[in-house]
Amino acid sequence: MTGPQLPAHTEPDDPIFAVCGPDGASLRCRVCGAVDEIVADEVPSMAGYGEDTCTRCTRCGSVETTDPIFGWRAKPATWPPAPEHDQP
Ligand SMILES: [Zn+2]
Repeated sequence: MTGPQLPAHTEPDDPIFAVCGPDGASLRCRVCGAVDEIVADEVPSMAGYGEDTCTRCTRCGSVETTDPIFGWRAKPATWPPAPEHDQP
C-alpha cells in the first residue's frame, strides 16, 4: 500500500496519525510513514473520571495522548533516529 509522501516535518499541533487507505481503515504515522504499525490503549484516567488514551507508533515511538484534563497532546519522535556511534 503506497500513498503520497508527506514531509517528515510535523508542526507541534499537527496530528501524528492520519487515516489512509480507500476506506480510511488504516492509520499512518506522519512522522516515519509506517502504516498500521500503531497501537492504541485506553486506561481509566488518573483524573478520576473519563479515560486516558494513548496512541503510539511502534516504529518510531511517536505518541498521541488524550486525557480529560489536558485534552489532546502530541509527542512526535525524532525520525529518522540519530545515528549511533557507539556500536562495536
Ligand atoms: Zn512512526
